[in-house]
Amino acid sequence: MKELKHLNKYFLKYKYKLIVGVIITIVARIFLLFTPRYVRKIFDAIEKGLNGSITKEAFKSELTLAILYIIGAAIIAGIFTFLMRQTIINVSRYIEFDLKNEIYQQYQRLSLNFYKKNRTGDLMNRISEDVGRVRMYAGPAIMYSINTVTLFVIALIFMYNQAPTLTLYTIIPLPILSVAIYKLSREIHKRSTIVQEYLSKLSTFTQESFSGIAIIKSYGIETQTADNFYNLSHENKEKQLSLVKVGALFFPMMILLIGVSNLLVIYIGGLQYMNGEIESLGTIAEFIIYVNMLTWPVATVGWVTSIVQQAEASQKRINEFLKIESEIKNPTTENTNIIGDIVFKNVSFTYDDTNIQALKDVSFSVKHGETLAIIGQTGSGKSTILDLIGRLYDIDSGHLLIDNKPIDTINLNGLRDHIGYVPQDAFLFSDSIENNIKFGKEDATDQDVIQAAKYAQVHKNIMGFKNGYNTVLGERGITLSGGQKQRVSIARAIIKDPKVLLFDDCLSAVDTETEEKILNNLKKLTSGKTTIIVSHRISAAKNADKIIILNDGKIVQSGNHETLINTEGYYKDLYLKQLSESASN
Ligand code: ADP
Ligand code: MG
Repeated sequence: MKELKHLNKYFLKYKYKLIVGVIITIVARIFLLFTPRYVRKIFDAIEKGLNGSITKEAFKSELTLAILYIIGAAIIAGIFTFLMRQTIINVSRYIEFDLKNEIYQQYQRLSLNFYKKNRTGDLMNRISEDVGRVRMYAGPAIMYSINTVTLFVIALIFMYNQAPTLTLYTIIPLPILSVAIYKLSREIHKRSTIVQEYLSKLSTFTQESFSGIAIIKSYGIETQTADNFYNLSHENKEKQLSLVKVGALFFPMMILLIGVSNLLVIYIGGLQYMNGEIESLGTIAEFIIYVNMLTWPVATVGWVTSIVQQAEASQKRINEFLKIESEIKNPTTENTNIIGDIVFKNVSFTYDDTNIQALKDVSFSVKHGETLAIIGQTGSGKSTILDLIGRLYDIDSGHLLIDNKPIDTINLNGLRDHIGYVPQDAFLFSDSIENNIKFGKEDATDQDVIQAAKYAQVHKNIMGFKNGYNTVLGERGITLSGGQKQRVSIARAIIKDPKVLLFDDCLSAVDTETEEKILNNLKKLTSGKTTIIVSHRISAAKNADKIIILNDGKIVQSGNHETLINTEGYYKDLYLKQLSESASN
């Protein structure tokens, strides 16, 4: 139960609702226990009527009264049972909601390295399945425990007062039932975990086939894919059947044990009645009802035990996850204004997971208002530089200064607020174009959106779509071309009006003419801002104040366009190559 302590803060938060729930449960159970007593009264009346020890009138009125009592008590018990679910089960849903949000916030706090180490499926499980199991503890398990304890205690007192020996015999099979249900629940849980695994394999497989349907069709491998699906689906069916097999044992076992208890009551009760150890036959009828009433709560003891164990295991995983500290720590919550002077001094950086040293002893500086271009081959470390400026990773050695302050002393949210970042692989959400552009600035007006799209040279394309800015992208909407995607994500960065603009090769899929226009627009926009343009095309770098050439994580050359085309090296070669390419086009 150690791990489940984490939930105590939530129980405390909803303590009044819970207390009311407990009281309601107890009241519901007390009224439920009226029935057996009045059934006995009915039997006693019948017995007396048969003996002729009471008149027909007295018999009738006694019978009617008892029946009215039973109906009344049943109605009240019913109402309270409804309320019991409404309070305790509702609290478990509130707790589920809170816990999911707590976990989600932790997800967003964690750094990119965390996501590289964990599979998406596991991350999803934590927020859906693990929380689901914990909820079963916070709601049903607690409700049924209170239920069982109340019912058991009250019923036992009633029974013991009636016939102590018979009580003993009646409850003998119950612990056996409890243990049997516990064993069965564990087995069911074990098998349903396996079923879950297969279900998620199956859905991953289908999901991938749907998104890769174009490849599957064009390679003509439909039959092969269908075979794979058949096999997975077949295994899934087998696992389901094995789960159904144990599941099917549940009720027969309960019915068997109830039957045994009933037989015991009738047999022992009958013997005792004949020996005159119990007063009336009504007692036997009353006991039969008790036995049937107690069976389910007793069975739930086994069930609840297995729920608690599962919840404990799930909560343990959740707790371990919540304890993980983000590698990127926010040093302060005090807001910082950023001007945008960036200095790299002998910065080196190695990716943890691959052990690739992406940057080696890199030094350069950009002042606010300046434009820096970074040129280099794939894998030379260009994107890494931008990731470090956004502090998606922390540097290993050297100094990274923003406005002359070490980057890790600046409020993280403040820093990122002032950065407009266009990633290499333009990522757009399955949402409208408008919302995708507004993403970094919730309060942007329609006018702002259009202006940003115009700067990014994508306004005309958008207006060409039937629904304009309301066009939905992605899975259930249209797919943009690579260049359109890039330009929408440029508009997203521009609209934020940030101090630092980072463009990671984001004009690669745009033709040179449009590139030229966008760069000209940017010049108007970026006065007073720091702009870093990563590119493999000279055209994007031409007008930059400074250019650095990266190769294998090191700066091999730096200068500006004029100086670099006159110096032997990568830049000059590239320039000549691209010049002849554009001439031949
Ligand atoms: P560029 O943007 O110039 O193509 P990158 O900065 O993306 O280069 O990559 C530099 C080096 O770091 C490459 O060797 C690449 O394989 C490696 N690398 C890049 N991103 C990651 C990452 N997220 N995890 C591990 N290694 C990476
Ligand atoms: Mg890159």
